Amino acid sequence: MSVKRIYLDNNATTPCDPRVVEAMLPFFYEMPGNAASRNHPFGWEAEEGVNQARQQIADLLDVDTKEVIFTSGATESDNLALKGVFEMYARKGNHIITLQTEHKAVLDSCKRIEKMGGEVTYLPVNRDGLVDLNELEAAITDKTILISVMWANNETGVIQPMKEIGDICAKHGVLFMSDATQAVGKIKTHPKKVGIHLMAFSAHKMYGPKGVGGLYVSRKNPRVKVTAQIDGGGHERGMRSGTLNVPGIVGLGKAAEIARLEMAEEAQRLSRLRDMLQKGLMDRLEECYVNGNEDHRMPHVTNISFKHVEGEGLMMTFNQDIAVSSGSACTSASLEPSYVLMALGLGDDLAHSSLRLSLGRFTKEEDIDYAIDAIAAGVNHMRDLSPIWEMYKEGVDLEKVVWTEH
Ligand SMILES: *Cc1c(COP(=O)(O)O)cnc(C)c1O
Repeated sequence: MSVKRIYLDNNATTPCDPRVVEAMLPFFYEMPGNAASRNHPFGWEAEEGVNQARQQIADLLDVDTKEVIFTSGATESDNLALKGVFEMYARKGNHIITLQTEHKAVLDSCKRIEKMGGEVTYLPVNRDGLVDLNELEAAITDKTILISVMWANNETGVIQPMKEIGDICAKHGVLFMSDATQAVGKIKTHPKKVGIHLMAFSAHKMYGPKGVGGLYVSRKNPRVKVTAQIDGGGHERGMRSGTLNVPGIVGLGKAAEIARLEMAEEAQRLSRLRDMLQKGLMDRLEECYVNGNEDHRMPHVTNISFKHVEGEGLMMTFNQDIAVSSGSACTSASLEPSYVLMALGLGDDLAHSSLRLSLGRFTKEEDIDYAIDAIAAGVNHMRDLSPIWEMYKEGVDLEKVVWTEH
């Protein structure tokens, strides 16, 4: 039997859509120009490709083309937005508010900002992964310059109340930035409608190529400026120097166009498959818990804890066939439970026992049937081997057991 290869890790990265690859190809050889070369057709063609991509992205986000800055990806966009605002608005204040469940690109940028004299509030989230709006508003001080809240979480798919947060930011005259990497191209993300002033996104999370992304920067009401973090030829309106990655940008543009046209239908199809997958597992297995709010969640993601099963080990039972992520992160020394799940109030054990299953454009219904069988078999296998599961089945109250170390 041939090994199946089912990819349910689309939140880590998506495959590149063949239509995207096709759009990119001419820009590698036939049209090799530098988009900044103003004096020959090679340059003009490249610039034309970039202009079209900027338009495609502006259409997807419902913004002006001048508000789109190309970068190397969402990590760079997050860095540019946070550090760039911190530097540019230093005279206004030094305080930033964000969430404990943000991506490392935001959290580590904030840590750097703290080293540079900034103050950062890392707000907790509720059990379901949502921010408490009263707490958010109460955290604002007269030094607050920016609130940074991700649109959708990469581990749980939980969608934050963007419009409500935008209203709070507007009321207090604070800039609103969002890492929307997991949301752009999958659900409607119109920053102006919800009051976002800076928004990061990445091509490889929306069926485009790796190593290219963008940052939306509002130009009107208010006109936002960020201090460049990379100096050079003054590309991208002085905010991000460096020769533009023309094929990558063309790919990002094509990915945006496809997303705009197909997003609604795709979301419907994927949420049906996601629900099938989640229900299939929950029906077959006892002691499973869905992590994060299910009503405010991306259509293609589910994050499930399988009690008394270690997620990394579980993954090993089927990872030749099916790619998923676990709720553990490998650090240099050990396997750490996901800080996102810990912020939702899960204990170490439930965090370690979780899987993130993220579907995508190329997921088929038969993949879901296969995945339910394989994951359920894996969980049962792990539990059959587990003395803890045996004790649990015998009715031992595991909370009361005194464990000895040896
Ligand atoms: C993937 C991801 C990033 C990083 O994007 P890159 O383009 O890989 O740098 C940032 N934030 C979120 C929420 C992500 O999912």
